[in-house]
Amino acid sequence: MLNPVTTVLGDIPGSALGFCQSHEHVYISFSHPVSVEQLIDDPDKSLMELLAYFRAGGGAVVDAQPLGCGRNAAILSSLARQSGVHIIASTGFHKLSYYPENHWIHSLSEDHLAHIFTGELEQGMYLDGGAVFPQKQCSARAGQIKTALDREGLTPRYRRLFTAAAAAAVKTGKPLMVHVEQSSDPAALSDFLQDIGLPPEQIIFCHLDRAVPDRRVHREICRRGSCLEYDTIGRPKYHDDLEEITLIRGLLEAGYGTRLLLSMDTTRGRLRSYGGVPGLTYIIEQFIPQMLDWGIDREQIEGFFVKNPARIFASHSRNS
Ligand SMILES: [Zn+2]
Repeated sequence: MLNPVTTVLGDIPGSALGFCQSHEHVYISFSHPVSVEQLIDDPDKSLMELLAYFRAGGGAVVDAQPLGCGRNAAILSSLARQSGVHIIASTGFHKLSYYPENHWIHSLSEDHLAHIFTGELEQGMYLDGGAVFPQKQCSARAGQIKTALDREGLTPRYRRLFTAAAAAAVKTGKPLMVHVEQSSDPAALSDFLQDIGLPPEQIIFCHLDRAVPDRRVHREICRRGSCLEYDTIGRPKYHDDLEEITLIRGLLEAGYGTRLLLSMDTTRGRLRSYGGVPGLTYIIEQFIPQMLDWGIDREQIEGFFVKNPARIFASHSRNS
């Protein structure tokens, strides 16, 4: 029996998630530096997008915006309730350039941060006000810890954040998701996290499909037992869908289909209800038919969207 997955409306069995896109953004109330393009801040529009996803067959999304930079736990809960889509929310931290200089994330100790992240997973998320230190907690809990590795690498200020995030992951058994970008070194972070005691099976490395051209690194991360989340789908500014399918097939041929999650990593400009393209339903309506055409079979596709998320977002037992 698998452990439960924590959604904003409570714990559910992983098998109840259904079709899950594992790294999305459905609501972002503010950003720093303030840029309208980064905001996804109209609850009615976000609800429309989720309802379209639900009608197309979507069952769940992981919202990858962590606390203190525009996540809104109360709105995520109401979106889940109204749309019928399960939402797994995130605690943790984003790239430090996303926080103003006076933000508490820069000054709290490692222990204090670990305490905040653990509390969000076990008790409830803060209804936080950005740079203002969070005060009020709600009953909705986060289901994963989002982190970000930028090109700055593991400098002391990032080591403090990753150590706190890993401590919360070890304590709660929840997955730790890592934003990876060009010129960052996921293998070095993987070494660091393993050295401080986080099992590789609990780590999800995101965006390698557009950030890390050396495919050996993708396989090496999988060989260690961690998972990859690919989301350069319907994003021709990076590469076309056929190239994405070639990457997916490469991982399948290497025997790592059970380590792969797929998603859109939506922004305002890519959500239909905000006037963007191609919309949250693009994978279901257009990308899956393309995968089938190029020889990826239904069982493998069910793995990426149903079986793998059910296993990977479930709590890992604490002594494994
Ligand atoms: Zn993202």
